[in-house]
Amino acid sequence: EASVKVIDGKKVAKDVRDEINAEITRMKDSIGVVPGLAVILVGDRKDSATYVRNKKKACETAGIKSYEVCLPENSTEEEVLKYISDFNDDPMVHGILVQLPLPSHMDEEKILHAVCIEKDVDGFHPLNIGQLAMRGREPLFIPCTPKGCIELLHRYNVEIKGKKAVVIGRSNIVGMPAALLLQREDATVSIVHSRTNNPEEITREADIIIAAVGKPNMVRGSWIKPGAVIIDVGINPVEDATNPRGYRLVGDVCYEEAIKVASAITPVPGGVGPMTIAMLLSNTLLSAKRINNFK
Ligand code: NDP
Repeated sequence: EASVKVIDGKKVAKDVRDEINAEITRMKDSIGVVPGLAVILVGDRKDSATYVRNKKKACETAGIKSYEVCLPENSTEEEVLKYISDFNDDPMVHGILVQLPLPSHMDEEKILHAVCIEKDVDGFHPLNIGQLAMRGREPLFIPCTPKGCIELLHRYNVEIKGKKAVVIGRSNIVGMPAALLLQREDATVSIVHSRTNNPEEITREADIIIAAVGKPNMVRGSWIKPGAVIIDVGINPVEDATNPRGYRLVGDVCYEEAIKVASAITPVPGGVGPMTIAMLLSNTLLSAKRINNFK
């Protein structure tokens, strides 16, 4: 147990953010451009509001200008599309992010499709995802959470090439792009989802597990091959009377059990979460550099 490495996402995210800060300063000093990120939030979901607040704070710390639009739940699709179109045309804005989920009366596909691909810092435009899936093609942006997972593996020198990786979950924003990325890194990838029979038999084969399900403590110690590396994307509130807030956050992996079996694991919180925001800043910087042809 003493040899188990806790993958410190907070620390790595801080390192990444320091590197981003230095690059932003270099760009500002040499061409006078400050990266800009526009965030569109529709409705009053508390978790979404928290994410948007955190992103805004992170932008400010990094020296990225943030443009925030908060629209009421009953807004129309046209209103959202108008903001997107204005941001598409705005040279101060290099990244546009529509906070998901959108209210149910809106067509998510249509709205994500409206973000111009050069500013799609979330990497959710179908063209970006398509390029991610194709051999020999390069997406303009890689979705932030899966990019953060891979960055953690890289920074901890976890070999991916030739390894067996299992991704649990196949959502458009985490599981599916995570599986595509692992495959691009030459892992042999299996995807486990809600219709998979005996998932533990598949995960037990894995050298690397990325869990993105949304089910607290679903992955037990017995699901894990000794020495495997575990990236836990799940963020699940569970009741906890001893916590002043009345709840605490746990991952999709039963941490107490997993840490006895795995060679390395991300904690929740403090694992993937901070990396997601760092990757958003990284994508925004990348976009500002590309749009301004700054090397
Ligand atoms: P979704 O609900 O969109 O997707 C969940 C996936 O898990 C689906 O593919 C679903 O399968 C699969 N699944 C559900 N139940 C089971 C099961 N019993 N066994 C195997 N697979 C199952 O969630 P997201 O991908 O958006 O998010 C997943 C988790 O990651 C959540 O806890 C979320 O809060 C967290 N998250 C964390 C982020 C971070 O920055 N750390 C960012 C984004 C999300 P099927 O397709 O068959 O329905």
